[in-house]
Amino acid sequence: MVDIEPGLFDPPPGWTPLEAVVPDDLSRGEKRQRLVQRRIRDGIHPLGYIGLHKEAAREREGDGLRCGTCRHRQVSQYHNRSYPKCWINDGARATHGESSDIRAWWPACTDYQPTEEKTNA
Ligand code: SF4
Repeated sequence: MVDIEPGLFDPPPGWTPLEAVVPDDLSRGEKRQRLVQRRIRDGIHPLGYIGLHKEAAREREGDGLRCGTCRHRQVSQYHNRSYPKCWINDGARATHGESSDIRAWWPACTDYQPTEEKTNA
């Protein structure tokens, strides 16, 4: 039998699971926002199937690497609209749906590469 330290897996005081505060009448956009928030909290990139870079930003504001400074994020224009997509692996992550639009503020994933490679000059 394994001894587990009492309280080791208890949530911190005041912590409320996001699922517990999601009302049924949220709009599609609000539900998506909550999903993105939950994924970031759990260390998953908002796309849902990639881990976060170890230096990724964890909040919307503040320090850390973000998709907005990654060389794989490219914005295309079509019919007066902008479509920011991740074009890594020849666009394997880019679908025609809004769910694959890459927000500039999103935390960077493990495949992050800076827009401009750092030089020692
Ligand atoms: S490779 Fe990762 S960090 Fe770069 S744009 Fe794609 S999802 Fe964002």
